[in-house]
Amino acid sequence: IVSKLPRVGTTIFTVMSALASEKGAVNLGQGFPDFDCDPALVDAVTHAMKTGLNQYPPMAGVPLLREAIAQKIRTLHGHAYDALSEITVTAGATQGILTSILCAVHAGDEVIVIEPAYDCYVPAIELAGGIPVFVQMTVSSDGYSVPWDKVSAAVTSKTRLIMVNTPHNPTGSILKKADVNALADIVRGTDILILSDEVYEHMVYDGQAHESLCRHPELAPRTFINSSFGKTYHVTGWKIGFVAAPAALTAEFRKVHQFNVFTVNTPVQYGIAEYMKNPAPYVELPAFYQRKRDLFRDGLKNTRFKLLPSDGTYFQCVEYGAISDLSEAEFSKWLTTEIGVAAIPVSAFYNTPKESGIVRFCFAKKDETLRLALDRLASL
Ligand code: PMP
Ligand code: GLN
Repeated sequence: IVSKLPRVGTTIFTVMSALASEKGAVNLGQGFPDFDCDPALVDAVTHAMKTGLNQYPPMAGVPLLREAIAQKIRTLHGHAYDALSEITVTAGATQGILTSILCAVHAGDEVIVIEPAYDCYVPAIELAGGIPVFVQMTVSSDGYSVPWDKVSAAVTSKTRLIMVNTPHNPTGSILKKADVNALADIVRGTDILILSDEVYEHMVYDGQAHESLCRHPELAPRTFINSSFGKTYHVTGWKIGFVAAPAALTAEFRKVHQFNVFTVNTPVQYGIAEYMKNPAPYVELPAFYQRKRDLFRDGLKNTRFKLLPSDGTYFQCVEYGAISDLSEAEFSKWLTTEIGVAAIPVSAFYNTPKESGIVRFCFAKKDETLRLALDRLASL
C-alpha cells in the first residue's frame, strides 16, 4: 500500500506514555486526568443505559444534548446557535476536527496552521488534499503569542481555512480580544473559513475570559467551533464533543459526519445532557485547575526550570536551558528515564523542525501525583 501519510508515525503522546509506564515515571506527558470523573455523571449515563436508551440516536446527536449545548453557549457567550441545525455531537474533538476539515478543504486549498499546533491538524489537512501553510508563534519570556502580521502575509487566493486553538495546546496561551479582532481584520472581505479548537474552553485562569470565536459577530458566521466533553468533565476516554457552526457549514459538516461515524454513543449523550443541567462543574473548573497550576508552579520555582505563563489549558511549559543542552525530544526521554517524570517535547508540535529548549508538563493530576513529580524534579 502507498501511504497517504508517509511522514506520520505513532503520536508523541502514545510514545511518551509507553516510556513513562516502562520506566515507572510519573506521567506528566500525555494530557489526561489521573483522577476520576464525578460519580453523578456516571450515574446519569448508567441511568440512560438502564432505561433502554441504547439504540442509534438521531444522526446529529440527541436533541436534549444539542439544546443543552446551545443554551450553554448562549449564556456564556451571547451567541444563539440553533440546536437543530447548528450543533452536531461528535466522537470527540479529534473527529470533529477531521470532519470539519474534510468538508471544508478541497484538493489544492491552502490551510494556515499556527505552530506549535496540536498533532491531529496537519494529517487531517493532508487527507483532505489540502496544503498546510505554517506560521510560527512568537516566543519570549512573556510566553507565546500569534504574530498576526505573519498570518496576514501567509494569506493567498488559495487560502480556504485558518486553524486557531484557544486556550492553546501545548503553550497554555489564550487568544485575547485584540487577537480575535486581528483575525477578523485578516478575513474580512474574503471567503476564508475558520476552525476554532476550543476544547479547553473552561480552563482559563486569573479571572480572564475565554474569547470564543462565536462572540465575534463577523467570525461566528464563518467558524467551526470544536469542543470536547472529555476535557470539561474529566472523561477523556469517552470520546465525545461537539461542533457548533452556522447552518450552511453544519449542513456540509453533517454530509461527511454521517458517513464518518454516522452518530455518537446514545447513553453517554443522554447522561451528559442530564448532567449539564447543573452548570457548577464547568463554572468551577477554572478554580479547580488554577489551584493545581499554582501548586505545580510554586514547586517548580525551586528548580532551574524557567516557567512560561500558563493562562489556560492544563499544561505548563518550561524552559530547561539552565539544566541541559539536549534536544527537546532527548531531554524529555532523559527526564522520564533518569529523573522519573515524563514530559512532552514542544518540538513535536512543529512541522518545521524547531528547537526552543521547552517541554510541556500536564498538571491535570492528583495533588499527590504533582507532589511526587515535584520531589523528583527538585534536584534540577
Ligand atoms: N484539540 C486539542 C488542542 C487537544 O488537546 C485535544 C485532546 N488532547 C483534542 C483536540 C482532541 O480531543 P478529543 O479527545 O475530544 O478527541
Ligand atoms: N490531547 C492530549 C495531549 O495533548 C493527548 C491526546 C492523545 O493522546 N491523542 O496530551
